[in-house]
Amino acid sequence: MILIVDDRPENIFSLKSILELHSFPVDTATSGEEALKKTLKNTYSLIILDVQMPGMDGFEVAEFLSGNKNTSDIPLIFLSAVNTEKKFITKGYSSGAIDYIVKPIDPDILLLKVKTFHRLYEQNRELILTENKLQSEIEFRKKAQQQMQEKAQELNGILGSIPQVAFTATATGTIDFVNDHWYDYADSFSSLPVVHPDDRGIAIEWEKMLLSGEPLDFELRIAKLHTTDFRYHLLRVVPVTENNIPVKWVGTFTDIEEQKQVAKRKDEFLSIASHELKTPLTSIKAYVQLLDQMLQTDNQTKIFVDRTLVQVNKLDDLINDLLDISKIENGKLKFELQPINFEQLLSSTLEMLKHIYPGVLIKCGEKVNASIQGNALRLEQVIINFISNAVKYSPKSKEIEIITAVTPDNELYFAVKDWGIGISRENQEHIFSKFYRVSEASQHASGLGIGLYICSEILKRHNADFGVISEPGDGSLFYFKLPLLD
Ligand code: ADP
Repeated sequence: MILIVDDRPENIFSLKSILELHSFPVDTATSGEEALKKTLKNTYSLIILDVQMPGMDGFEVAEFLSGNKNTSDIPLIFLSAVNTEKKFITKGYSSGAIDYIVKPIDPDILLLKVKTFHRLYEQNRELILTENKLQSEIEFRKKAQQQMQEKAQELNGILGSIPQVAFTATATGTIDFVNDHWYDYADSFSSLPVVHPDDRGIAIEWEKMLLSGEPLDFELRIAKLHTTDFRYHLLRVVPVTENNIPVKWVGTFTDIEEQKQVAKRKDEFLSIASHELKTPLTSIKAYVQLLDQMLQTDNQTKIFVDRTLVQVNKLDDLINDLLDISKIENGKLKFELQPINFEQLLSSTLEMLKHIYPGVLIKCGEKVNASIQGNALRLEQVIINFISNAVKYSPKSKEIEIITAVTPDNELYFAVKDWGIGISRENQEHIFSKFYRVSEASQHASGLGIGLYICSEILKRHNADFGVISEPGDGSLFYFKLPLLD
C-alpha cells in the first residue's frame, strides 16, 4: 500500500486518482503526525511526502521514519513546490530509497518512479524474507549439529567403558571412533582387525551393509595383534537413523569363544552318544524284526512285539536325526543328486505315511509329472518331516493338504498345508534353526527341534527355495521349490 502525506486535500485527491487508476492501493494522511501514527499500524511499500506542511514538515517525518527500524526501509518520494537544497534531502538518511519531485507533478514521471520504488520495495522485502529463512535454517542446522555432537560424545563415552571392542562409523562407513580395546586387535584407527582366512571378510559384508542400510550381524574369528590365537567374535553393527536413513553406525565385536566351545563340546557329545547308541539299537531292531516274523499273526505276544518294533523304529529315527546333525556339523552330510520323477517319489512316500497315520486324511491336489535333480531318500525325509509335523501340530484337525504345481519360473512347487496351531512371525524366523522349538508347541507334542534344521540343510544342498507361511491359530504351509529338469 502507498501512503500519500499532504496537508492539502486537493493534492491528495489528484495523486490518489492517478495511482488508483493504475491499481495501486492507496492510504492518505493530511499531516506528518497522522502519517507517523499510520506507519505504526500499517505496512507501506512507498510514502509520498509533501515537504511543506504546517506542524511537522516532510523532512522531520522522514527523519523519524529513518530512525525507526520498522519503517527505515520504506522508500520516500518528496513533493515540493519550491526548490529544496540537496543537503535537506540527504539529511539524516543512511538507508532507504529516496527521490524528489517538484510540483507541478508530471503524472507519467510520478508513475514511473512509483512503479520503480514499489518494485524495489517488494524485491527488498523478498530478499529480507529469504535472508530470515536462511538465517533460521542455519540456526536450526547449527543446533542439530550441536545436539548430534553431544549425542556422539555421550555414545563414545559409553562405548569407551564397555568390555567389547567398539567403534562408530559415519553414514558412508568411515570409522570415526574406536574404544581402547580396538587397539588390541588393530594397529591403527583406520585398519580393521585381522580375520581368520577361512571366515567371511569384514570388508565385503561392510559394503553390503552400507548398500542395504540393514544391520550387520555375523560370527568371525579375529586374533589379538602379533598373535595367531583366533577367537570367535560376534560382529554386530547397527545404524542410528534419522527419518529412517542411517546417519551413523555403531559396532561391537563380542568375544563368544566360550559359548562356541561349549556348543562344540555339546555337538561332540551328541555325535559320540548317537554313534554309541546306534550300534546296539541296530541289533535290537534286527532281533525284534526276526522275532516278529517268527510269531503267529493272532498271537498276543506278536501284538506286544509289534508295539516294541514301533517304539524301536521311533528311537531309530531319532538317532538317525542326531547322526545327521553331527554329519552336518562335520560337513559330512553328502549325497548324490540324480534325476527323479517327483510324482513317483511323492506317491510312494504318501502310501507309507497313510499306514503310519491311518486316521488322517491326506488330500492331494493336481499331480505334476515332472522330473527334478535330487536325492530321493533325502527328499523323502523332508516330505515325511513336513507331513509328520503337520499331523503333530494339528491337535484338532485330521486333515492335511498336499499341493504340487509348476511355477511360472519352471520350478516344482511342493507344499504341505495344515489347519493346526500355526506359528507366530517371530518364531517363523527361527524354526529352521538347530534345536529351536516354539514353547507353545511343546505343550502339544514332544520333539528335539532338529527335524526342520535337517530339512533346511538337505534343501540347501538341493539349491531349493523353501519356507513357511503361517498364522497362529490358522495353520501353516511349509513349502519348497526345486528347478525342473528339461
Ligand atoms: P520338533 O517337531 O521335533 O520340535 P522340528 O524341527 O520339526 O522339531 O520343528 C521345530 C519347531 O517348529 C517345532 O517345535 C514347532 O514349534 C514348529 N513347527 C514345525 N512344524 C509345525 C507346524 N506344522 N505347525 C506348527 N508348528 C510347527
